[in-house]
Amino acid sequence: MAGKKKKSVARAPEKNQPSRKPAKTASAGAGVQKNGVGRGTNPARVRAILKGLDEAYPAATCALTHENPFQLLISTILSAQCTDERVNQVTSTLYRKYPNPEAFAYANPAELEQEIRPTGFFRNKTKSIMGASKLIVEKFGGKVPKTMEELLTLPGVARKTANVVLGTAFGIASGVVVDTHVQRLAERLDLSKNTDPKKIENDLMKIIPEEKWIIFAHQLIWHGRRVCRARYPMCAECNLYRLCYYPHKTA
Ligand code: SF4
Repeated sequence: MAGKKKKSVARAPEKNQPSRKPAKTASAGAGVQKNGVGRGTNPARVRAILKGLDEAYPAATCALTHENPFQLLISTILSAQCTDERVNQVTSTLYRKYPNPEAFAYANPAELEQEIRPTGFFRNKTKSIMGASKLIVEKFGGKVPKTMEELLTLPGVARKTANVVLGTAFGIASGVVVDTHVQRLAERLDLSKNTDPKKIENDLMKIIPEEKWIIFAHQLIWHGRRVCRARYPMCAECNLYRLCYYPHKTA
């Protein structure tokens, strides 16, 4: 998900590349903490991970093309079970036809369904988009609300979408976006032992400084797409290698 700016693949810089020898980190003997937080959450280790991510992805941001908070909201709803590239293809024409919340709110649902069909789950997404747009028009004066509580009242909007909109569109750190990449990376980097996104988010909010919540999620998403892929993580390319406890590293 990203503003309009698309960056080229960010690689870990050659210099300062940590040794690939698996680390015996200070946390290795810490054991699993009671609250389900991973064993690797001691502050020094977390700081080292944040530093590595900053070095590799200093300008990570959302990859969904958008010009305003409303478009980001719609694109994020469309991105469920769909790639950002596909969403961006669809929205490149969609936002010309539907330029504001009113246009979506009172759209012809059969037409809208066909227009967003390539993103999958198009019937449910149409209901969510029209329902959210209607509420924005009729209850929020045509503006996307800026609080988690209000955003969660919109159809089709759960914490992940609300965090994306608040963080990327408004710069409000309301939590940590937990998508499939963040979920996978949190486990591989041993930052959380939980599998439920809300619990993972809680774990991350405890160990990541609040001022890093927004970019940290973007950085993990970028890392998950470019290097730490679900099926074939490119561990030889990874500047977090020494900090990673994943037992199936590929190098
Ligand atoms: S699994 Fe591999 S690519 Fe992923 S964080 Fe660990 S070392 Fe890096």
